[in-house]
Amino acid sequence: MTTPFLPFALPEIGDDEIAEVVDTLKSGWVTTGPKAARFERDFVAFLGDPSLQAVAVNSATAGLHLALEALGIGPGDEVITTTHTFTATAEVVRYLGADVRLVDIDPATLNIDPAAVEAAVGPRTKAILPVHYGGLAADMAAILGIARRHGLKVVEDAAHALPTSCGGALVGTLASDATVFSFYANKTITTGEGGMLVTRDDALARRARVMRLHGMNRDAFDRFTAKVPSWYYEIVAPGFKYNLTDIAAALGLQQLKKARAFQQRRAAIAAAYDAGFAGLPLQVPPQPLPGDLHAWHLYPVRLADAAGVARDRFIERLFEQGIGCSVHYIPLHLHPYWRERYGLQPAQFPHSQQAYERMASLPIYTRMSDADVQRVVAAVRAALGA
Ligand SMILES: *Cc1c(COP(=O)(O)O)cnc(C)c1O
Repeated sequence: MTTPFLPFALPEIGDDEIAEVVDTLKSGWVTTGPKAARFERDFVAFLGDPSLQAVAVNSATAGLHLALEALGIGPGDEVITTTHTFTATAEVVRYLGADVRLVDIDPATLNIDPAAVEAAVGPRTKAILPVHYGGLAADMAAILGIARRHGLKVVEDAAHALPTSCGGALVGTLASDATVFSFYANKTITTGEGGMLVTRDDALARRARVMRLHGMNRDAFDRFTAKVPSWYYEIVAPGFKYNLTDIAAALGLQQLKKARAFQQRRAAIAAAYDAGFAGLPLQVPPQPLPGDLHAWHLYPVRLADAAGVARDRFIERLFEQGIGCSVHYIPLHLHPYWRERYGLQPAQFPHSQQAYERMASLPIYTRMSDADVQRVVAAVRAALGA
């Protein structure tokens, strides 16, 4: 009997999700409609702050784009973000013709370093775009403080951060201008593809709702259900096609109900890894501050000098034992587009560079059994010759 390959990530889709999608398919309303609207209401209820508005979109990338667009970011402006992220965080800035100012991370947390942010603020800076890397909250008190002192906007990339808390408050309810969550296939909850923009800013929410559907001044749902006059709309801007379908929202409605339980399971896997790796020459990811919630979207380990194995070989050895891993992330400063556009050198980002060279992300998802978790622990020990 051969042991099956353990993939790096798998979504957990249950009978509840399947039934909700089937209900949608039978309802006759498959694109943005009542379920997308309900998903937005449920999302605000999940965050527990009725002063928020949620705008469902077809990806977090779309949500980030809409948030920055609504804040008026454009040519000549600069947005500060972390080099240690996925390209989506930064590419949306370029969609708007603005420039990206990449900064280094705090090597302890792998999150954007507030001191580096402060040092990067210049006359063109308009916004800060922190990422809650792996599901651990960025230092939002410091970032919001910098933003207040310099009159900057803050948009949180919360693609990993459902649910994450910061100073006891859930990410999504903090004092930033907007927060954007992702429901991509491998994220903490999934709609296949999807995202949610949340904000307390009425004008921002209104603009995002218009721009997510062609720049129409009424969304598709209103258009077909409002009493008067159902056929009329006005185009007020060349908008985008970023609306979330009801088929996707159906998945989201059921996934959201499980988000807390999913987080608890991932936290238990992280704790089992921490215990299993004690004494090995690798650095496990940091814990959240006392009382705070870590979403545990990622579990990146960093090899110590004493590991005696290079990162690439370490990953190969795990693959040879049937364990999928990944690297989060190849920092933006190493990708040709970002490197060449801004003339970036690894020496400008020593902490991100060093973390990248030593890191591997291990599988951490709810469909893993305890035996799967122990298999990973044993494989890591073997890969390190322990
Ligand atoms: C996944 C991800 C995104 C993009 O999310 P999509 O929903 O796929 O657009 C943005 N930022 C980070 C950090 C991500 O991991």
